[in-house]
Amino acid sequence: MNLLNLTSEELRTEMSRLGLEKYRADQVFKWVSKGVTDPGRMGGVPARVMDALRENGVYAALPKVVRSQTSEHDGTVKCLMEMEDGVRVETVFMKYKYGNSVCISSQAGCRMGCVFCASGMNGLERSLTAGEMYGQILAIENETNEKISHVVVMGIGEPMDNYESLSAFLNIMNDPKGKNLSMRNITVSTSGLIPKIDRFGSDFPQVNLAISLHAVTDEERSALMPVNKAYPLKDLLEAVRRYTDKTHRRVTFEYTLIRGVNDDDEHLRKLAALLKGMLCHVNLIPLNKVRGKEYEPGRERTAQEFREELEKHGIPATVRRELGSDIDAACGQLRLSSDNK
Ligand code: SF4
Repeated sequence: MNLLNLTSEELRTEMSRLGLEKYRADQVFKWVSKGVTDPGRMGGVPARVMDALRENGVYAALPKVVRSQTSEHDGTVKCLMEMEDGVRVETVFMKYKYGNSVCISSQAGCRMGCVFCASGMNGLERSLTAGEMYGQILAIENETNEKISHVVVMGIGEPMDNYESLSAFLNIMNDPKGKNLSMRNITVSTSGLIPKIDRFGSDFPQVNLAISLHAVTDEERSALMPVNKAYPLKDLLEAVRRYTDKTHRRVTFEYTLIRGVNDDDEHLRKLAALLKGMLCHVNLIPLNKVRGKEYEPGRERTAQEFREELEKHGIPATVRRELGSDIDAACGQLRLSSDNK
């Protein structure tokens, strides 16, 4: 068992079951939260403790960084990480004025099939464990020699399709004996799995929620995002209203501008009408071109027009700053290119 999957309390229980002192669990947990997995570097932890854990099949292992690209423009670092069984995902480190943020993957591949996305092109390989999600953060901190202050679960995969691991991961990140990261500094994105959105609002009311919207009619959204056939727009927006009523937290709608698909005046008018009066914020994203897909990014001017018009309707909006534009920027592309080598 990789102990990255455990909260400090679970590690205490495990160590006590093995006849080890519970306070040793807190020491080990702390070292691991600093990215230290080599027992020889865990100062203050006797070798017998780590030996006993190892003999009982309990160990600490981080994903391996098999490839890393650093943007010369803005210092964004994109890593291809390999898990113990060889599956690979992407993790991205980004610098912002407010701190360092990491975008992690929740699954290797994705079964949601959004047509503009590189991550889902080959379907779902498997879901990640909580420890593999946590491990991406520790491994990228080691790789960049930086500490992170914010986490977004917005990389490869649909996090709500891996809800149990996601929940365990959030509790590990928030554990006061380890990273102790505020739930408010974590954002989880979903393509719109309504039952999980309802559950998430009850389980994690302080974690930020982002919804990948990308279209304003059921016909157009179903064509871009098959999940819309099961959970259509009207029901999705009702679920978001239930969520904001319960949590009083602003939801972010992600709207990727795709030229000729969702970026004309009519789309803008419908988008404003759909979201008017909601406790929300819109993040306008210029599409990252994916090799082998015909979709083109919306024009920069369009993004600014969308932002201004939405704000006139009282809907706060921003245009996402393009980070890492000189590296394999589209999510899933680095993993795909490694598969093709
Ligand atoms: S956009 Fe997100 S939900 Fe859709 S296929 Fe890509 S990874 Fe999956």
